[in-house]
Amino acid sequence: MFEEYKNLWVYIESSNGVAANVGLELLNPTRALADSVNEKLVAIVIDSKDTEALAQTAIKYGADEVIVVEGEEYASYSTDAYTNVLNVLAEKYKPSAIFIGATNRGRDLGPRLAARVKTGLTADCTSLAMDNGNIVWTRPAFGGNLMANILCPEHRPQLGTVRPGVFKKAEPDEHRVGNIIKEDITTPLEMIRTKIVDIVTTVSSDVPNIEEAEILVSGGAGVGGPEGYGVLKELALAMGGSIAASRAAVDAGWIDHAYQVGQTGKTVGPKIYIACGISGAIQHVAGMSSADVIIAINKDPEANIFKVADYGIVGDLFEVVPILTEEIKKR
Ligand code: FAD
Repeated sequence: MFEEYKNLWVYIESSNGVAANVGLELLNPTRALADSVNEKLVAIVIDSKDTEALAQTAIKYGADEVIVVEGEEYASYSTDAYTNVLNVLAEKYKPSAIFIGATNRGRDLGPRLAARVKTGLTADCTSLAMDNGNIVWTRPAFGGNLMANILCPEHRPQLGTVRPGVFKKAEPDEHRVGNIIKEDITTPLEMIRTKIVDIVTTVSSDVPNIEEAEILVSGGAGVGGPEGYGVLKELALAMGGSIAASRAAVDAGWIDHAYQVGQTGKTVGPKIYIACGISGAIQHVAGMSSADVIIAINKDPEANIFKVADYGIVGDLFEVVPILTEEIKKR
């Protein structure tokens, strides 16, 4: 039915020649999906500079081929210009599926592209699989209380956005070679209806990017107030990590939303996640379950967080955390 549609595409989000993690992360699961149907994994790079280096990076992380579009009009992201490029490319090459990171940019680009290529979009996926040539897009539904498997058997391309931090990047293979195709697509300036006049950073520069952190010491309602984060900060500092939070703490106004982990916060994938005074609600776990090692500190032995934790300490965080900090400082 869809013989002319083939190959899986991953959009490599980048700004000024620097790739965001999410596109490189997506090359890992999609590599296996492409192999399972004997199709190529193609990365799409759109930027105003350094596209050759971006393409080489995508190949190292698993792409067989990279289609590159470079132009001054792609220096800043605009819905019109980027949708135009992907639409022109999709019409020419007819990919079977397109994967986009569920970042602010991807959440804007995905639906617009879906409308243009007349297909559906599965947004905010947390897991991917292949079923008889159809992508199985899995995403939380009903407030995270169930996971919905969504297929798109009637349309091509299949299109979806995937949350950052859900998948780990593959180890880069410096010897991997791939094909780079340069496409000359210009978007007339009159087609670009929005212009970025200024970028104002709202998050103060001392708020770390918790999505990139390797160690997170996260506090929930159990910290009892903003001052409760003091002991967590000391542990985070001793371990070279950052603090994070549950929504209960953010809603209480104890800590900025930039630190929130979970369904309506950030998805994180650190090496170590220490959950302190967090009960383990499904909406919180959705944002941290891909951490390599989860350590839970909670005074309730029945707390759900212990079901996902690799190590659990039943106790008062204000007694346990300072002991951990002292021990780590000794090493
Ligand atoms: P609680 O559930 O109140 O748990 C506090 C825990 O601390 C308890 O287990 C208690 O035993 C323990 N404790 C108390 N004092 C101490 C102490 N001194 N030492 C050790 N342990 C102690 N939540 C998120 O976190 N992120 C999200 O993105 C998110 N999105 C949501 C989206 C929707 C649509 C909905 C409906 C909810 C969402 N929630 C989210 C809220 C979520 O359901 C929970 O309400 C929230 O995660 C609870 O936060 P908590 O674990 O910090 O608080």
